Amino acid sequence: MTLSELQALYDLPFFTLLSRAHAVHEASFPDGKIQLCTLLSIKTGGCSEDCAYCSQSARYKTELESHVLLEREEVMLHARAAKDSGSTRFCMGAAWRGVRGGTERFEQVLDIVRDVATLNMEVCVTLGELGPAEAQQLRDAGVTAYNHNLDTSPEHYPNIVTSHTYEDRLRTIRNVQDAGIAVCCGGILGISETITDRLRLLEVISNFNPAPESVPINSLMPMPGTPLAENPQVEPLDLVRMIACARIAVPSAKVRLSAGRTRLSDETQTLCFFAGANSIFYGEKLLTTDNPEAADDRALLAKLGLDTLMPDTSLGAPVADPSLPASPAFPASIPPPACAAVAACC
Ligand code: SF4
Repeated sequence: MTLSELQALYDLPFFTLLSRAHAVHEASFPDGKIQLCTLLSIKTGGCSEDCAYCSQSARYKTELESHVLLEREEVMLHARAAKDSGSTRFCMGAAWRGVRGGTERFEQVLDIVRDVATLNMEVCVTLGELGPAEAQQLRDAGVTAYNHNLDTSPEHYPNIVTSHTYEDRLRTIRNVQDAGIAVCCGGILGISETITDRLRLLEVISNFNPAPESVPINSLMPMPGTPLAENPQVEPLDLVRMIACARIAVPSAKVRLSAGRTRLSDETQTLCFFAGANSIFYGEKLLTTDNPEAADDRALLAKLGLDTLMPDTSLGAPVADPSLPASPAFPASIPPPACAAVAACC
C-alpha cells in the first residue's frame, strides 16, 4: 500500500475503519483464533546499541539485571513451561547488535534452537543483524521465524537509533527472506513519532515481497534511565486504528498485539482483536518488561469466546509474488558490517 492509501484508511470514521479491517480479518483468518506466544530473553542487557527505548542498551543507566547467554537446559525449562501453559510459539531474544557465524556464542544459540525445535512449537529468534550464512544456519537448526522490527519510519529511525541504520535492518530482513525463514517485522508506538511515521512504517512493511508472516505492534513501555523514559502513553484508540490499518495493509500476516498490554483495558484489547490482532505474548515477562498474568489473558479470551491456535511447525516463509521485485531490495551477498562491538557483546 502507499502512504496516501494508508492515510485515507487511517482517517476513516473509527467504526468504518474497524468494520473494514474486521472484514479483511474474517476473510484471511476465518477461524478467528488467537495465537499465544512466549518470549524469553536468553541474553539480557549489555547491548552495544543505543536504541532510545531500550533498557538493555549498555549506554543507559537502568535498573535492569543483565545476564549472559542462558544455558540450553534453562532455556528448555522455560520452553517446556511455555508449551504446557498453551503457547505454540517460543521466541528467544538476545541483546546483541548481531551474530556472527563461527563464534562460540552463535554455536550455543544454534544448539538451543535445535533443542527447542524438538518441542513441536514454532521457534522464533531475535538476535539482531544476520548475514546470509547465519540465516541459513538458523533455518537448518530449526528456526521457523525471525523477528527483526523496523520500529518506525525510515525518516524517524535516526532520531531513535544512531548505532545502526534502517538499511542495516532491511538488509537483515532480506537475508532472512532469502534463507526461507518467515519474517516477523513490526514497530513500536509511543517513541515520539508522528502518525505519518506510523503509516510510513506500514507502507514499508506492506511492500515486502514475500510478505511478512507476522507484524507485531508494540506500545512503548517507558523504561527509567532511557531517553524515552518520560514519553506519554499511547492513546488507546490510536493503537486500535494502527492495528486495523496493519490488518488491511498486510492481510495474510498475524498481527501481534505485543508490548504495552499491561496498560490496556480489557475493552481496548477487545477492540484490538476485533480490528485484526490475532496473537498475544503470553506469560509474566515480555523480554524485560511486565506482561499481563496468563490467567487474566485466559479469562479475557474465554469471555470473548476466542479459541487459541494450535502450533504449525511446518510454518514456511510466505511465498514471494513472482510478478513483483523482491523487497526489501538488497543483494543478499552483503555481509553485516564488521564491528568491534559485535565481537565484544556476543
Ligand atoms: S539492539 Fe536490541 S537489545 Fe540492543 S539496544 Fe537495540 S533494542 Fe535493545
